[in-house]
Amino acid sequence: MIQSLLVIGAGIGGLAVALAAAKRGWKVTVVEQNDRALGASIQNFGLVFPLATTGAEYEIAQKSLSVWDETLTGAGIAFHRGSVIPVCSDEGMAVLQAFYDGHKSEREVSLMGGDAARERLPMLSSAVQMALLSESERVIDARTALPQLTNWLQDRWNVSFQFNTSVQDLESLKTQYDADRVVCATGAGLKQLLPELAHELELSVCSLQVSRLQLSPELIPKRAVATETSLTRYASFTNLPETFSLRESIQQQRPGLLEYGINPLASSCASGEMIVGDSHKYGSSPEIFSESYIDELYMSELSRVLNFAGSLVKERWMGCYAYSPVRSYIAESVGDNNWVFAVLNGLGMTLSFGLADDMVAGW
Ligand SMILES: Cc1cc2nc3c(=O)[nH]c(=O)nc-3n(C[C@H](O)[C@H](O)[C@H](O)COP(=O)(O)OP(=O)(O)OC[C@H]3O[C@@H](n4cnc5c(N)ncnc54)[C@H](O)[C@@H]3O)c2cc1C
Repeated sequence: MIQSLLVIGAGIGGLAVALAAAKRGWKVTVVEQNDRALGASIQNFGLVFPLATTGAEYEIAQKSLSVWDETLTGAGIAFHRGSVIPVCSDEGMAVLQAFYDGHKSEREVSLMGGDAARERLPMLSSAVQMALLSESERVIDARTALPQLTNWLQDRWNVSFQFNTSVQDLESLKTQYDADRVVCATGAGLKQLLPELAHELELSVCSLQVSRLQLSPELIPKRAVATETSLTRYASFTNLPETFSLRESIQQQRPGLLEYGINPLASSCASGEMIVGDSHKYGSSPEIFSESYIDELYMSELSRVLNFAGSLVKERWMGCYAYSPVRSYIAESVGDNNWVFAVLNGLGMTLSFGLADDMVAGW
């Protein structure tokens, strides 16, 4: 007998669960409180970033990547491939060298000196001394990709969507929708629907400042760009002993970067624009107001490694994702055929497809 599934939330988490279940023959309905997804999944850099992950998360990211590749082709979503981390300091070079030596056999990475990197990517600045190139990333423009993904799920996988439908409690849902199972994929909205679980997870939100630049086509790197600060944030680098000296040198020379949790990233959209950011501020509610000095700090750090002279800031926004200091994701039953699905470490675009596939495969 065909089983029916109700998914709450049309962000990347809800869409990933819907895809995994529809592929296995479930009849899937997604309900979303807004007239389209408006949460973290369209506010982000659109970066599928296995390079940032390690251990079990790397395995999940690898699985996600193969689902993304099928999905990008199926849904006709434009994307760029790969990432680069250019560095200008001896400490940054030591981290890249250690990472490369430890991973060159199992990851698709290459390490090059400044001149070779500029030959490959002429928009890199003359200050860049070394760059790590990775081919495992995919870069999409989430704002246009999410609606394309939604349409594809409707047309190709017969997933039904009900927008403008806010769920107030899980109890009445199964009868109302005649669903065998419910998955709550509401991102930061988890706090309203499952307050006890949110308390257990010490759930808060992380607010990030981001901008969209318009720039000449020859200045677009056509891959994601991360910076030295990323090496002090992402799990794949932070476990290297060399990262300690890098963090110390950033603390001494550009303390604002660490104080405001700034992680300068640039993500080129196939549309010819570039999303740049970001900062990290944790709290129980999203931050509303963006601060111009934070935008200046990440722009200044990016301009150390990238030439984007003459670019125009087209938009600025505050993004916000659900964050837990105790779990980086949750994909499990909360009883009575209700399940919860959420990536809680700011890597939902990278992990959701693989994690959802594992969860649904276990049903
Ligand atoms: C600025 C920024 C940059 C980021 N960059 C990256 C990146 O480059 N790579 C990466 O991997 N990750 C990135 N992330 C993290 C990633 O965006 C999130 O992890 C991911 O989008 C979370 O997806 P979600 O579906 O769980 O949540 P959301 O996208 O927030 O979706 C939840 C949905 O549920 C709906 N909802 C909530 N409550 C209810 C209710 N009661 N009834 C009905 N609907 C409800 C909401 O309206 C929303 O549409 C970034 C996040 C931000 C904010």
